[in-house]
Amino acid sequence: MVENPTIIVIDDEAIMRDGSSRILTKDKMAVVTAENGEAGLELVKETPEKFDIMLLDLMMPGMSGMEVLEQVKGVASSILVIVVTGYATVDTAVEAMKKGAYDFIPKPFTPDQLRIVVHRALEKKALEEETKRLREEARKSLRDVAKEKSKTHTIINSMTDGVLVVDKEGVMALLNPAVTRFLSVSAEEALGKAIDDVPLEKLSETVKEVLEKGENLSGVSQEILLQKDGRDVFLRCHAVPVTDEDKSLLGCVAVLQDITQLKELERMKADFVAMVTHELRAPVAAIEQQLTVILKGLAGEINERQAKMLGRAKERAKGLLDLVRDLLDLSKIEAGMQAQYMEPVEIGDMLSRVVELMRSQAEQKGLTLEFEIEKTLPVINADPPNIEGVFTNLISNAIKYTPEGGLVQVTCKREGEYIRIDVKDTGIGISEKALPRIFERFYRVKTEKTRQIVGTGLGLSIVKQVVDAHLGTIDVKSVENQGTSFTVRLPTVLKS
Ligand code: ATP
Ligand code: MG
Repeated sequence: MVENPTIIVIDDEAIMRDGSSRILTKDKMAVVTAENGEAGLELVKETPEKFDIMLLDLMMPGMSGMEVLEQVKGVASSILVIVVTGYATVDTAVEAMKKGAYDFIPKPFTPDQLRIVVHRALEKKALEEETKRLREEARKSLRDVAKEKSKTHTIINSMTDGVLVVDKEGVMALLNPAVTRFLSVSAEEALGKAIDDVPLEKLSETVKEVLEKGENLSGVSQEILLQKDGRDVFLRCHAVPVTDEDKSLLGCVAVLQDITQLKELERMKADFVAMVTHELRAPVAAIEQQLTVILKGLAGEINERQAKMLGRAKERAKGLLDLVRDLLDLSKIEAGMQAQYMEPVEIGDMLSRVVELMRSQAEQKGLTLEFEIEKTLPVINADPPNIEGVFTNLISNAIKYTPEGGLVQVTCKREGEYIRIDVKDTGIGISEKALPRIFERFYRVKTEKTRQIVGTGLGLSIVKQVVDAHLGTIDVKSVENQGTSFTVRLPTVLKS
């Protein structure tokens, strides 16, 4: 029901006005009265929203109830009018209903009769208000949905990153303008077409990989190179599966980011490093050579104290030279020069040579170095100095990070299409947290145990680059304080 309703009673008979007032006020209604039609209409005009129900006597001197009825709809359309009629005027009541009165009550009436009629009207009024509110709410939520939709649309369309949505059948469902720019196709052309039709093979492969592997995949990242207006554009494509609440696959969303500038910056950085290291190598090598000559006494007698200081200087010069060499290797590898000198390599011979070279270093530290190799191994295609560098680095790490009395094992065997080389130690190990980072350039684990061990943190990043360039893989397993094992797999038949 309407809360705190207000009723206006228009009747020329004071007794009717007072009686109605009394009855309705008892029912917690506010009642306003008027003694004729004009006064009543005037009151309604002043505050049209205030009144819920009008109790209107049809037979009044002056303005008749019928006239009031006609006019009140124009003033306050939401007032429900109950007309009060004499016994003999049922016809008039019917006419009044036709003119828009909601109900009628014949005179004279009992308090209960009045109450029933008024309550019925109030219920109708409450229903009307509820309907109105619901309708408004529905309209509002539709408006919100439309607004929300257009907001998302605007955001996706104004992104500089490309957004491509593909359904689980591989049909393109959404492309924002950035994607259409990258691909040089219009959205109209592409929408509804299969992802295979996209003129960018790597993109369609990435999306298809996600759709194949589906909901269990966290995502695939790819770098894509394309030509646009005669220049190279590098895109990073990150594609992830889209699933519903039950984790079943709905499709794939790919985000394409233009990383051309980053690539350019990276190249400039690599060029700079290559240039600087190249320029540094000769003078540092000269310093080291001169110090060696002096230390050997070839430039005249030196005393013990001088020898000690010069010895330290030579050590540092050698360290610097190692760093320069690593950096040069790295920049060469990054420039893609590493795999140019591929030739057939007897991996077993090469490994035993490397192991023998490292043996004295291991023994000096009180470590056992074991080497085990399968008898007949196929020849692989490799770049000898670089692949030698891989194993030197891995074995030297194993020796460096294994305390006295430990064991370093190198094994080499065939595994399907690959040759598998394991370098295993019983050393200090690598924490789970550090493990994913050890192939990063300059990354070194910092703990009490590694503090005294010198290194640049470049070794493994070079190892990884060389292995990648040979289309091989490298994996690492490690348990802190128990040991580490690196596994390298190199393809026996090199795929182009
Ligand atoms: P360098 O460039 O002289 O080789 P480095 O040995 O510190 O320096 P990486 O060979 O790249 O650099 O190794 C990175 C880090 O990984 C090391 O600093 C070390 O903390 C950790 N690490 C590598 N190999 C092992 C291993 N066998 N046992 C324990 N920690 C290792
Ligand atoms: Mg190392």
